[in-house]
Amino acid sequence: MNTVAPSPLDDLKTRLSDIHGLEMAGAVLDWDQETYMPPGGVGARAETRATLAKLAHEMQVADVTARLLEAAEAEGNDKEAASGDEDASALLRVARRNFDRATKTPAALVEEFSRATSLAHSAWTQARAGSDYALFAPHLEKLLELTRQIALARAPHAPIYDTLLDDYEEGLTCTALEPIWAELKAVTVPLVAQIAAAQPIDDGVLHLHYDPAAQRAFAEKVLADCGFDWNRGRQDVSVHPFCTHFGRSDVRITTRYACNDLQSALFGSLHEMGHALYEQGSPEAWEQTPLAGGVSLGVHESQSRMWENLVGRNQAFWSHTYPALQGTFPAQLEAVPLSEFYRAINRSAPSLVRVEADELTYNLHIILRYEIERELLEGVLTVADAPAAWNAKVESYLGLTPSNDTEGILQDVHWSHGGFGYFPTYSIGNILSVQLWNAAEREIGELEPLMARGEFAPLLGWLRENVHRHGQKFPPQELVRRATGEPLTVAPYASYLQTKFGALYDL
Ligand code: ZN
Repeated sequence: MNTVAPSPLDDLKTRLSDIHGLEMAGAVLDWDQETYMPPGGVGARAETRATLAKLAHEMQVADVTARLLEAAEAEGNDKEAASGDEDASALLRVARRNFDRATKTPAALVEEFSRATSLAHSAWTQARAGSDYALFAPHLEKLLELTRQIALARAPHAPIYDTLLDDYEEGLTCTALEPIWAELKAVTVPLVAQIAAAQPIDDGVLHLHYDPAAQRAFAEKVLADCGFDWNRGRQDVSVHPFCTHFGRSDVRITTRYACNDLQSALFGSLHEMGHALYEQGSPEAWEQTPLAGGVSLGVHESQSRMWENLVGRNQAFWSHTYPALQGTFPAQLEAVPLSEFYRAINRSAPSLVRVEADELTYNLHIILRYEIERELLEGVLTVADAPAAWNAKVESYLGLTPSNDTEGILQDVHWSHGGFGYFPTYSIGNILSVQLWNAAEREIGELEPLMARGEFAPLLGWLRENVHRHGQKFPPQELVRRATGEPLTVAPYASYLQTKFGALYDL
């Protein structure tokens, strides 16, 4: 019998696959908690979850992992010179990044942070319910301090906010973001003001009664048409919609149905489907390795926003899909022409609450959060002064004034989880979605005629080839360059917004 001894890289992969297995088991429990678990299960689930997380973390930072990684790196250095195995060196790069990130944060700090977020989350829930910022303020103060310490432990010489950004979007810095925000504001703020002065769009037709079961059947059919693989995915109901995955062949999305809102489940489903298609398109050969799955939150969001907005809020898409929607809801939509429906789903109006914001005003909510959280972390703004600073920015960007902190600074859950540096990835995704769309059109021709015929395979095929199949092999900025031929650039997105909303509002 002829057996080949496993290489150091194989040994490392086995180790990482074991860790991955624990993380996936945790993800199944999280999915279950958000969908089917009875409320009484919370306590026991928290214990089980903590055990799995602890085991995975211990395995990740253990000496044996360090030794396997070093041995595989040494072998890689020898081999790479000879064979140039790109996938192996990418795998080692990502494994090293994950290892360093896990080991550079002192365990005591991780534990303190975890405890602080539990307390902060419960305080935030109360504070938000009663619009009582003072209840949350000391917790925010504590989380900011711990976040600073963690960022400095990871990268002592880097600006704190850059270290946080890098967690979600590798390589992104404030220096790169500032001109992006400036350009985005320069196009959005005047456009929002022009729309405020224009004839408003009436979207009342979207708020008639829509039977949830019929909404569900319709959305499931649309998802299948777009290319969602129901054999490797499913959709359930949760309070907050999300997408999770336990590998490329089991991708879960959730949505919520509202009787008097046609948009929530429909566009929410298209959004989560965009995330799911990315995960379903990850290469089979990389399953259970650090190269599997989406590379960053920004790139992930480019996929969800593309299917939600560029496809789902596109007139050509509805010229194909609208008759079926009218057939599903004849009483509500039979007398509503396509052009009117298209205008309704693209209505833009400033709002106080980010999750209710439309495609155009959404980015202003993001820029505002970036500016506030960065000033808080850098000590330029105090926790006590933050609500007033928030309201002043809402006034200046959106022309609105929050009447209390619940519709102001207390509205988002992110800070109570210690999620600082996360918000910018939403807008990065918006910007990138248009760059990718344009790049796809340069290669396969205009996409709208295809949408009008219900042909989504060419777009999905292009995304598979240029984004999905690369998994985490390239850092996000390199992936963007390879797929679009340029770095992250606002101009295409700015021109998309101007053209689309200019036409909608006759500007
Ligand atoms: Zn998303």
